[in-house]
Amino acid sequence: METTSKHQNAKDSKVKNYYGNDPWCIVEEGFDPKMQEAAESIFSLGNGRMGQRANFEEKYTGETLQGNYVAGVYYPDKTKVGWWKNGYPEYFAKVLNATNWIGLSLSFNNLDLDLHQCEIHSFQRTLNMKEGFLQRKFTANLRNGISITADVTRINSMVDDEGGAISYKIKIEQGKGNFKVTSYLDGDIKNKDSNYEEKFWDQVSQEIIQDESYLTMATKKLNFQVCTGQFTKVLKNGEPVLNNTPSILKDKHVENIFLCDFNAGDEFEIVKFAANLSSENHPKENLIQSTKKIISILKAKGFGKIKAEQAESWNDKWLTNDIIIEGDAAAQQGIRFGIFHLNQTYTGADSRLNIGPKGFTGEKYGGSTYWDTEAYCIPFYICTANAEVAKNLLTYRYKQLDKAIENASKLGFKNGAALFPMVTMNGEECHNEWEITFEEIHRNGIIAFAIYNYVLHTDDEEYLATQGLEVLIGIARFWSQRITYSTAKNKFVLLGVTGPNEYENNINNNWYTNYIACWSMKYAGEVVELLKQSYPTEFLRIKEKTNFNTEIETARWNNIVANMHYPTLENTKVFLQQDGFMDKEQLNAADLLIEERPINQKWSWDRILRSIFIKQADVLQGIYLFMDHFDHETIKQNFDFYEPKTVHESSLSPCVHAILAAKLGYEEKAQEMYLRTARLDLDDYNNEVKEGLHITSMAGTWMAVIEGFGGKKIDNGKLSLAPFIPKNWDSFSFNIVFKTATVNIKISQKKVEVKNLSNKNIEVLIYNKPYKIESNDRIEVEKI
Ligand code: BGC
Repeated sequence: METTSKHQNAKDSKVKNYYGNDPWCIVEEGFDPKMQEAAESIFSLGNGRMGQRANFEEKYTGETLQGNYVAGVYYPDKTKVGWWKNGYPEYFAKVLNATNWIGLSLSFNNLDLDLHQCEIHSFQRTLNMKEGFLQRKFTANLRNGISITADVTRINSMVDDEGGAISYKIKIEQGKGNFKVTSYLDGDIKNKDSNYEEKFWDQVSQEIIQDESYLTMATKKLNFQVCTGQFTKVLKNGEPVLNNTPSILKDKHVENIFLCDFNAGDEFEIVKFAANLSSENHPKENLIQSTKKIISILKAKGFGKIKAEQAESWNDKWLTNDIIIEGDAAAQQGIRFGIFHLNQTYTGADSRLNIGPKGFTGEKYGGSTYWDTEAYCIPFYICTANAEVAKNLLTYRYKQLDKAIENASKLGFKNGAALFPMVTMNGEECHNEWEITFEEIHRNGIIAFAIYNYVLHTDDEEYLATQGLEVLIGIARFWSQRITYSTAKNKFVLLGVTGPNEYENNINNNWYTNYIACWSMKYAGEVVELLKQSYPTEFLRIKEKTNFNTEIETARWNNIVANMHYPTLENTKVFLQQDGFMDKEQLNAADLLIEERPINQKWSWDRILRSIFIKQADVLQGIYLFMDHFDHETIKQNFDFYEPKTVHESSLSPCVHAILAAKLGYEEKAQEMYLRTARLDLDDYNNEVKEGLHITSMAGTWMAVIEGFGGKKIDNGKLSLAPFIPKNWDSFSFNIVFKTATVNIKISQKKVEVKNLSNKNIEVLIYNKPYKIESNDRIEVEKI
């Protein structure tokens, strides 16, 4: 649950621009131990397969949150709950904090280098987003008078995605004596958020061979195994230092030790390669052998080649993903920061993986899958990568359909009704907040919407025939059973839900949920018709498999769609968030005192639930998703009604408001909301970045630029743009992948330029006017 900062406005925040405004790099100049945990989140590295916080390699005794994560490896931590109720999940899944593979103890005359205990003369930490590496340079005096300068570079390889590499260069500025390097792997790790203070790992095996060592750990309960291997090389003035010191075997720990002497002026380089292989991807019996193989590949390449390949791989990503903003360095850095982390978190290569709200940057949210994926991340991946990436995210849910049906049946639903979980690792519901998440059944709707959105952008109707319709039938069946008939209202109603705005629980007729539920049933019916015509064999297969009664079931769906109750504010076009919304004391967020915010830290839950204040876009989320269903006046009235009541205490909120504000021509509001989302973590608006980054809301930032400022939508199967540009930007440009064509769009204060980078002709709508653009050609239109 994100909260608004005590720095209500980043302009007043002490951390504003703490990391500079370089367009390609995040730079921390000078070392402030108070900022260390936040910086560990900001400078995190990942490659989709594994990731880690930017902990120091060497010992650090200051405040730190150590974090190394291997995708897909989790622990079902038994739920902590006061009073058990039927339907409560047994466990809360957590992606595990795994073996720390970066460890290097650097001891000078028996004193460990520890920046918390040193006098630091210079310090610079850089996240190079263009080439995908983390670098740290510093000069430090140890308490025993020895002075060193260090230059450390770390990579989580995108090419060998089970591997990482470190180059740790040290120059002795002052002093002489003995230098001991202990390169280690530490598997004795505990999750900070462990429910019962338990450690989740047991050791399987350990092995030390000269300059390599291997540690295999297994998770309790589910027995996932991860083998971590390392190879270390130490060079003194370019010559290898032999590791002839016997290493000591400790439980859950392996190490290789290198000893030598040093004098002022000596230069050392420690090169460490590590690999993390999981039994999810390799048979357990071969795990060590396979890890050795990756280590030998990394050794053969060497640090230089690994770094060069990393730069190449990121260069390819940026070619399609980059958004260039000219004239506003803070906005430029903010958007690249988001794109960089999204690509570090999910590469689309594996349909068993998904995107945790904090990615690999912290423990909060357990690394599990939320509705964030479909609502925020899929729009990003659909337009910035090939179709396979978004399809893998859909396949992830398809593979969990049986579990969703089981989940619904545990709650009393029948006949193949499917309720996908609000929080999941393997398809089972594993949220840890009964009162909120349990009733957030709206997530079923966004899963249907993601299927629609994917097909809209790719024309891949075959997907509907192979997977999509089955999911849609399960979802529509759920809605048609969950929705009941009110004789009092003479309408269908949806009782006892929580909408996206989690500051209202157990309400009736949440407009957003009612709307997306009906839309899902309508869409499922349309897909049934489409497949009957275009994929009759596949349709029959699905019909049989799901025991689908086409006439009876679709008739029920249509009846509900035609007769659903939607709460509205009389004599206006405002949709009420839920029944009874107007009974609340009608206040605006501006009426709150600064000391009262964020309300979720300052107020009782009871007071929050009674109040009018809205945590995140709810009715407006629905209007955003189905924008074309509403006229301008409806959008305006709803925005004007809800925006002042919204406290944006979820990171997922401002981007939706930015898009609607842009649509309505509220340029200042759009920009305010954009900056709030784009620099949320960099400027630590919510004063909680130390817990990890808001990865899924970074996709929202992308949406704010492309769909908000770019006015991008799909209109009758065509890419449509209606751009506006913030006054202080000179221009912004981006690529969109649409139906296999990549289109480059550049918007300046005066014109809109569209280049067709593909080898087929396309038609684009700009400010609703159609333009044909031949392959590799471009057009220019005056900006309105
Ligand atoms: C939001 C949810 C979101 C979750 C994970 C919560 O604070 O209210 O909508 O799914 O965070 O990002």
